[in-house]
Amino acid sequence: MFMVIFIFLVFGIIIGSFLNVVIYRIASGEGGIVFGSSHCRDCNHELAWNDNIPVLSYLRLLGKCRYCKEKISIQYPLVESITGILFLVVAIARIGENFSTQDIIVAGMISIVFAAMLVVLVYDLKYMEVPMVAIYLSAIIVAIAIYIQVSYDLKEFIFHIVAAMASFLFFFSFSFFSDEKWMGYGDGYIAFVVGLALGPFWAFIALLLAVWTGSIVGVVMIIFKGKDMKTAIPFGPFLIGGMYVAFCLMSFFPNWLDFMKL
Ligand SMILES: [Zn+2]
Repeated sequence: MFMVIFIFLVFGIIIGSFLNVVIYRIASGEGGIVFGSSHCRDCNHELAWNDNIPVLSYLRLLGKCRYCKEKISIQYPLVESITGILFLVVAIARIGENFSTQDIIVAGMISIVFAAMLVVLVYDLKYMEVPMVAIYLSAIIVAIAIYIQVSYDLKEFIFHIVAAMASFLFFFSFSFFSDEKWMGYGDGYIAFVVGLALGPFWAFIALLLAVWTGSIVGVVMIIFKGKDMKTAIPFGPFLIGGMYVAFCLMSFFPNWLDFMKL
């Protein structure tokens, strides 16, 4: 069990390194994902294998290119370590003492969805745009994973679909009636994945967390940076962050709301 969880962590860090490439390729419009040799983004010098070890190389090189000494974006080690942590958390949450092959498959699928949504998060932060290909991929994989997870129980599965539709409609109508001034259409699609992944109750918690933190940060940006609602900050990252937090609460503290029943 610990071995499996450790493999998830290492695998997550490697996937994270791959996600950085994906983000770069989507942004630069280079179609297919090619596993070519990698180059420094600044001086274009080819990188040696030991300059490419996720997280570790960044630390050893102190965040600078070995050749041109130009700063390497903190995005690289951040995405790598966050992906590693996401995989680790999913593995701990889903792979228990007497795990089955099915547990590993579901955990793997959820991990991949969380990774794809991390691409959306970073991309939305950087470019204020939601890469729809990551949304489609996530929606399909998460639907299959949830169906397996609820042991092919159609009723339980429909709850997740309803949560997805409701979350989507809520944010979609926001952007529709505000003419995308408060929120972009992309946020509706992100909310769809959140609802599908978490089901009605935990999706509601995730969206609530997103709205709270998003509004606080948004207001701060408007006051101190003189931005308006539209330019202040993309909302997608809050939705996705809310999903990660709600997943942790659901997995590790499912009864944290019990105090309200007293
Ligand atoms: Zn360089």
